[in-house]
Amino acid sequence: MVRRAAHSKKKVIVIATGGTIAGVGDPGKTAGYKPGTLTAEELIGENPLLEEVAAIDTDQICNVNSDDISTKDWLEIARTINQRAKDPEVAGFVITHGTDTLEETAYFLNLTVKTDKPVVLTGSMRPSSSVSADGPMNLYEAVCVAASKKTRGLGVLVVFSDRIFTARMVMKTSTYHVTAISAGELGAIGMVRDGQVFIYENPTKRHTKDAPFDVSVLNDLPKVAIIYFSVDADPDLLVYAAKHSDGLVIAGAGAGEFSVAFKKVIEKLKLPVVISSRIDDGIIIKENLLCKNTVASDNLSPQKAAILLRLALTVTQNKREIQRLFDTF
Ligand code: ASP
Repeated sequence: MVRRAAHSKKKVIVIATGGTIAGVGDPGKTAGYKPGTLTAEELIGENPLLEEVAAIDTDQICNVNSDDISTKDWLEIARTINQRAKDPEVAGFVITHGTDTLEETAYFLNLTVKTDKPVVLTGSMRPSSSVSADGPMNLYEAVCVAASKKTRGLGVLVVFSDRIFTARMVMKTSTYHVTAISAGELGAIGMVRDGQVFIYENPTKRHTKDAPFDVSVLNDLPKVAIIYFSVDADPDLLVYAAKHSDGLVIAGAGAGEFSVAFKKVIEKLKLPVVISSRIDDGIIIKENLLCKNTVASDNLSPQKAAILLRLALTVTQNKREIQRLFDTF
């Protein structure tokens, strides 16, 4: 449904997927609610300020807790954006999403949408029925960023609590604070205040139109398992995961390290193995790799390394080429 904008003909498409922003629970309370309850139309309807920014068109892809988002949903969102971005009247896109896996959907779209138009994800930490719900402000600011010319060509963005993050760096860093979405040591690239958008940094890693991944020919993605290393971690988990996956990501300790027992098994694995870290900040470089047959994740978290590896495996099996993709995206 398209509504008339008061001051502008710009159109912003709000693609709703559920999450806490669409959650409803006991009046005032912040826990024990049901995520993915309000529809896109209801979210827009309770936020009249949006129509001062743009004509809003909605698309409800699903209405779930974001832990239930699937590859099928990702492909549908990416294809919807690639199709609707061709409409010259569309200025940009907002995706409302649960915060648990928001960073994963954002990074997947950063690698698969083929447009310069802003694609902006947002969500909330408090359900719509809580005291001081953060959803309406986050949605308003996300629509402002999606309607702005300043954010074209920056790749997929996330807007949360007045800050603008790149999809590549954004992460959830708290289980419940309203500032839970941040970007570790590299921080935000911009801010929003009373609807005005301010951008201070331009990402250097490639994204969107430069990425070689084509969702129009994909029905599913290769399987990648993430194995988390900790003291006494059982190397048999690696053997099991390798048997049932197309690639592995190791969430290593420190700069991607693990035990001698892990090393002995990883050295023998034939499938692509990417080394990331269970530490949020910092980087894994090739010189850090304990096993020669592995790929360094740069500064991608394990969950983002898994997304890039899944997409990489749709175009190559070659480890050098996979490393090149990790160095570039
Ligand atoms: N469990 C919720 C979700 O990810 C949390 C949130 O949206 O903040 O859907």
